[in-house]
Amino acid sequence: MTASNAIRGTRVGSSPVRWAESPADRSETVARRTVGYWCANGHHTEHTFAADVAVPSTWDCPRCGLPAGPDEANPPAPPQSEPYKTHLAYVKERRSDEDAAAILAEAIARVRARRGE
Ligand SMILES: [Zn+2]
Repeated sequence: MTASNAIRGTRVGSSPVRWAESPADRSETVARRTVGYWCANGHHTEHTFAADVAVPSTWDCPRCGLPAGPDEANPPAPPQSEPYKTHLAYVKERRSDEDAAAILAEAIARVRARRGE
């Protein structure tokens, strides 16, 4: 048999697929479960997970960012303290608006002095 005959003999694409799944296997591989989550603000979201994956006990609410749980009547409590604060938030805690205005005025005066205005 020559090489060209061997290639023709494979009949690529024309043979039935040997690894086709049985109906039972197929239903297992696509098994999904949908879990609803509620946050403390009453937002409801649903997420679908593969059946063989551990469903997380909480999910961050996509609308307000609070943790949401699968129990509608008892959603996770919002965090007591915000884990992250911006620098500005810290400054606002320490300074009143009057302080801020005074500091800003000072800063502007310093900049103007440096520029020779
Ligand atoms: Zn929410």
